[in-house]
Amino acid sequence: MKYYILFGPPGAGKGTQAALLRDKHNLCHLSTGELLRAEIAAGTALGAKAKELIDNGMLVPDEVVEAMIENKFDTTGGVSGFLLDGFPRTVAQADALKRILARRGQKVDAVLSIMIPDSTIRERIRHRAEIEGRADDASEATISNRIATYHAKTEPLISYYKDAGLYREIDGTGIIDEVNAALSALMQVASSAPLPYAPDALAPIISKETIDFHYGKHLKTYVDNLNNLVKGTAFENMSLEEVVCKGEGGIRNNAGQVLNHNLYFTQFCPASDYSAPDGKLLEAISGTFGSYDGFVEKFSAAAASLFGSGWAWLSADADGRLVITQEANAANPVQKGLKPLLTIDVWEHAYYIDYRNARPAYIKALMQIINWKEISRRYEA
Ligand code: ADP
Repeated sequence: MKYYILFGPPGAGKGTQAALLRDKHNLCHLSTGELLRAEIAAGTALGAKAKELIDNGMLVPDEVVEAMIENKFDTTGGVSGFLLDGFPRTVAQADALKRILARRGQKVDAVLSIMIPDSTIRERIRHRAEIEGRADDASEATISNRIATYHAKTEPLISYYKDAGLYREIDGTGIIDEVNAALSALMQVASSAPLPYAPDALAPIISKETIDFHYGKHLKTYVDNLNNLVKGTAFENMSLEEVVCKGEGGIRNNAGQVLNHNLYFTQFCPASDYSAPDGKLLEAISGTFGSYDGFVEKFSAAAASLFGSGWAWLSADADGRLVITQEANAANPVQKGLKPLLTIDVWEHAYYIDYRNARPAYIKALMQIINWKEISRRYEA
């Protein structure tokens, strides 16, 4: 089951896009705004309470929308997933969603964000007021309140979901079909994780040329291959990790390479931003390997001695204990029930441009650009 959040300011076109995506990807479109308007139309007690708040551009209490969402999860069948529209709208609601999904053994797959400037928000809502006649679209004061509520309460979710590695943003100012194609691309099984740094920011340790080839061409090929291979199969609606664990042959290999590369490219930071591991992760590193230096020695040796193409990994087992493994070709530690934390790609395409055949020099340099905050996040997630 997939759980997508459709994110964006009022008037971003979430409803329009949700209707298109729902049909294309067999999803249930869950719009809290529509659910609340249905309560109002039916004249329920909840509707009466919600109406006044909505008409003033304010939010309805968390427990009301959370109960509505949970009820829909319980009573909806026959779909491949859910497209949440208008929920979560606050950090508290995002925490609640995490808890609701965890109880079901599920998690958010991606946050698909449609961005438009405030001036476009106003134009779109005024236009919609003429067509749909929604009460909360009618007055400029209510629109202003909704925009202010969005900036104050909902916008903080951008960094919340960026920190969780789930945030994907597209430009919502184009025509409906363009926006839809961009959103659909984000919902395919495979996509390249956005780089959290500029392509030249890791130079000279990883040059822009290597990023252009390794991220821009090698990873893209695996992404395209996988999306083509899974078309029309049961794998189409699985998470990437599931495809890696359940797939075979070309599907498993391409999925493994997408997962491996996405973890690899999102684990770095410019050398000037480097800070050493700390907190729980450092405790675990010291507990297992004696010290950080002891870890680097073992991890580097695993990467240097791996024969042929593959990946060296630091992972955590179910009890939070750390292990170093060598995985051949496209394999990933998730196949062994481990949680992958940190990796060194020792396929030659990762280092040949910058280091030629000097794999140990590449491994040594890489340790200066590891974003340990991200590795800690993965460890504690
Ligand atoms: P829009 O996103 O265009 O403002 P919606 O249809 O999503 O419109 O929501 C309309 C109104 O319903 C909101 O302004 C708010 O008052 C209420 N509402 C919708 N979703 C939530 C939510 N998750 N939490 C609290 N209030 C909500």
